Amino acid sequence: MLNVDQIRNGIVIDHIKAGQGIRIFNWLGLGRAPYNVAFVVNASSGRMGRKDIIKIDNEIEINFDILGLIDPNITVNIIENEGITEKIKLQLPERVEDILVCKNPRCITSTEKIPHIFHLYDRGRETYRCEYCDEVRSAADFR
Ligand SMILES: [Zn+2]
Repeated sequence: MLNVDQIRNGIVIDHIKAGQGIRIFNWLGLGRAPYNVAFVVNASSGRMGRKDIIKIDNEIEINFDILGLIDPNITVNIIENEGITEKIKLQLPERVEDILVCKNPRCITSTEKIPHIFHLYDRGRETYRCEYCDEVRSAADFR
């Protein structure tokens, strides 16, 4: 079982695909965090074989849409007073704004200053479709 003894109030990002934790660690800027952070690489996991885990002893704001786009299999545990008070199972977001970028030169987003909006197109293939021109992009392009 996950040991959260050292986390008082904070967040545990669990079930990260092994090897992917460093990208999340860097995205969250945890290398220069002024609070305790534990980064576990290649932990044994019955469900996944190997996984990465990030334990953050601070209540930080995380954009779960972006985190779900990076790795939709993640579980986020919210820790309060050393206990898990909430488990959030991430998934690919239905809609993302200014996260994926449309690369179609004929798309209105290439000439107008409007947000890049994509809608989930195929959950299995992890693809998104541009709201304006129907160009399809893969969530993997963001990773
Ligand atoms: Zn477009």
